[in-house]
Amino acid sequence: MAKLIDGKQISKEIKDELKELVAKKKEEGMEATLAVIQVGNDPASSVYVGNKKKACEYIGIRSLAYELPEETTQEELVELVEKLNQDDTVHGILVQLPLPKHMCEDDIIKAIAPEKDVDGFHPQSVGALSIGQKGFVSCTPAGVIQLLKRSGIEIEGKECVVLGRSNIVGKPMALLLLRENGTVTVCHSKTKDLKEVTKRADILIVAVGRPKMVTADYVKEGAVVIDVGIHRMENQKLCGDVDFDSVEPVASYITPVPGGVGPMTIAMLMNNCVEAANMK
Ligand code: NDP
Repeated sequence: MAKLIDGKQISKEIKDELKELVAKKKEEGMEATLAVIQVGNDPASSVYVGNKKKACEYIGIRSLAYELPEETTQEELVELVEKLNQDDTVHGILVQLPLPKHMCEDDIIKAIAPEKDVDGFHPQSVGALSIGQKGFVSCTPAGVIQLLKRSGIEIEGKECVVLGRSNIVGKPMALLLLRENGTVTVCHSKTKDLKEVTKRADILIVAVGRPKMVTADYVKEGAVVIDVGIHRMENQKLCGDVDFDSVEPVASYITPVPGGVGPMTIAMLMNNCVEAANMK
């Protein structure tokens, strides 16, 4: 039976550490501030934005909400981002994705000043990560590293396999594991003999976007399995990219869905905001 990695508990630990740090900084006269921009009223985005606001309140970060109508133009959005870039009282800027179809997400991300890019999506942040320089790291993969470290799981020298190569999860995940001295393999939809590759993993990170795709026959006995996936099933329950019931008896550690990687993403966003404010 695998040990459960409790993302809820670990994210709470991180948020409590940040809360303490923010309170100390407040005494020194510094108030960390995050600007959150939402365009349109996609219900899922509204839930995410609401959760970010709640996390800010818990930690003591000031949050500024910009709720723009669906028909906002790209130029208007860039103008707002540039205004926030110039505002010294704002430390982090987050544009909730996805944006309406008439906007180019890449261009909006590029408009955010890298020192305020708390999502870690700016090409400069990604470039810094790839050459081992300081910069903000995409929150979900950064959260996975924290889950591993805080569960006492050694990464150095381990065979790490990342299933998925998206810009926000798979690729930065691979770079972070490499930074921790793991031996890293990245798989994707064109990988041949996928199961043979994933079965080599001591640490298997699954970010494939396919409900319950990874079953026990993808996993080596005793492997650590981290499930980044999140899907709502027909019965309204959440599930991951890993078939938990099949993999749990084979793995040594496993993250549940919900309550594994999910809560870590917001905790790491809060961490990036506090870092952005500290850099000032
Ligand atoms: P994407 O759809 O952007 O990427 C999926 C990746 O998986 C691609 O690289 C794709 O390969 C690969 N892939 C798809 N099908 C297969 C297959 N059959 N065999 C091998 N590889 C395959 O997804 P994301 O990275 O954005 O997200 C992954 C999952 O994580 C989703 O379930 C998402 O909901 C979840 N997620 C959770 C977050 C959280 O906070 N917990 C945050 C972000 C995402 P190719 O590149 O060749 O197309």
